[in-house]
Amino acid sequence: MKGKSHVIKPLLDKEYPTVSHGRGVYLYDIEGKAYLDGCSGAVTTNIGHGVQSVIDAMNEQAKKVSFTYRSQFTSEAAEALATKLASWTPGDLDYVFFVNSGSEATETAMKIAIQYWQEQGRISKNKILSRWMSYHGITLGALSMSGHILRRKRFIPLLEEFPSIEPPYCYRCPFNSTYPSCDLLCANQLEQAIHRIGADNIAAFIAEPIIGASAGAVTPPPYYYQRIKEICERHDILFIADEVMTGNGRTGKPFGIDHWDVVPDLMALGKGMAAGYTPMAAAIASKRIIDVIAAGSQSIMSGHTFSANPQSAAVSLAVMQYIEDNQLIAKSEERGLQLLSGLQTLMQKHDIIGDVRGKGLLCGIEFVKNRTTKETFPLGLGVTERAIEKAKNNGLLIYNASGGIDGQAGDSVIVAPPFVISEEEINELLFILDQSIGELTLELE
Ligand code: PLP
Repeated sequence: MKGKSHVIKPLLDKEYPTVSHGRGVYLYDIEGKAYLDGCSGAVTTNIGHGVQSVIDAMNEQAKKVSFTYRSQFTSEAAEALATKLASWTPGDLDYVFFVNSGSEATETAMKIAIQYWQEQGRISKNKILSRWMSYHGITLGALSMSGHILRRKRFIPLLEEFPSIEPPYCYRCPFNSTYPSCDLLCANQLEQAIHRIGADNIAAFIAEPIIGASAGAVTPPPYYYQRIKEICERHDILFIADEVMTGNGRTGKPFGIDHWDVVPDLMALGKGMAAGYTPMAAAIASKRIIDVIAAGSQSIMSGHTFSANPQSAAVSLAVMQYIEDNQLIAKSEERGLQLLSGLQTLMQKHDIIGDVRGKGLLCGIEFVKNRTTKETFPLGLGVTERAIEKAKNNGLLIYNASGGIDGQAGDSVIVAPPFVISEEEINELLFILDQSIGELTLELE
């Protein structure tokens, strides 16, 4: 390993810049170089860096108490945050189990779903169905649910075979069909999987409303989730919306699933929940689920030392308040339209862009070798990594979203700046992206 650092970084032999500070949509390294945070870190810093009201809330809570254990105390901050979340979530998704990362959130949602059926004596209902080309987290339970080939690969012997249906990936339809004449074959496949595995063996189906880390903002067609929910209900299977990336206003609505007007039974939140100021995540359950557990064992069999940490709760509450006070969800929609239209213009200019997509400030770009045939670049060329590196050199951060399906999905990146980005800053982002993709094209010729 190069150098003197004892920190294990994503690539052991790579040099990473050392961050100095962040302001608004920019990060600065200790050499003084500025980076436009075009992907909010890992689609996390939804309100940008250095927001004073969040820093104040952090200080105020630290002066009172920073840590309490959830088996001994609740806190004003956790109570107020859960109430605020319940006012944002659709339907009766009103009960919040606090955790510390998106992986913990999806895994907790999975366990609550299994427990819900156990409490009713239906103990064989313990499998979770999910899609290929999905990502629900890195811990073994969450990875079992994830259809992210690259991240599963090394651990396959330890994983359950949960991914069972194809993704709603219209750009490369797994059924070689076209919406709407396809009649949502990708959603209907859930019903076939249920018949094959048996509804008596299935607790829940989990999906990211818009596919993130494994494919770059792949957005299902209209009515997709209405069909999914209808199939789940008909077979007594819970629907978990993994809103870790799409939640908290990222897509121009409070939650990604709101674009389909569907109320899930469980939701997982993370990333933007505290906008990166502290670790904070949650599994949110509907009243129907909590009522069953309250009438049964009375206790959800999960929890972490740092669950419902008052410091993180105070910060997350201040983040939600800042989003409300500054109408940032509407901003995410408005700036998102500007960003998507700018990406469409870049696509006309650069042949290596095969598709652009997304909602609100969650946009994706897919690179192709041939736009007509949609032929992908060979994996070994590392096109995604090279695009990210070029942009970074030019002062723009974008997010790696490749690795969904070997050979079937192309190289993809996510562009997802903080909601506070201005019109001029979006133009700057597009300018640097244009320049970087131009440089990459020259290199690939
Ligand atoms: N679920 C989704 C949809 C995600 O995008 C991610 C992270 O990228 C996770 C879960 C896992 O979250 P974390 O990395 O905080 O464990």
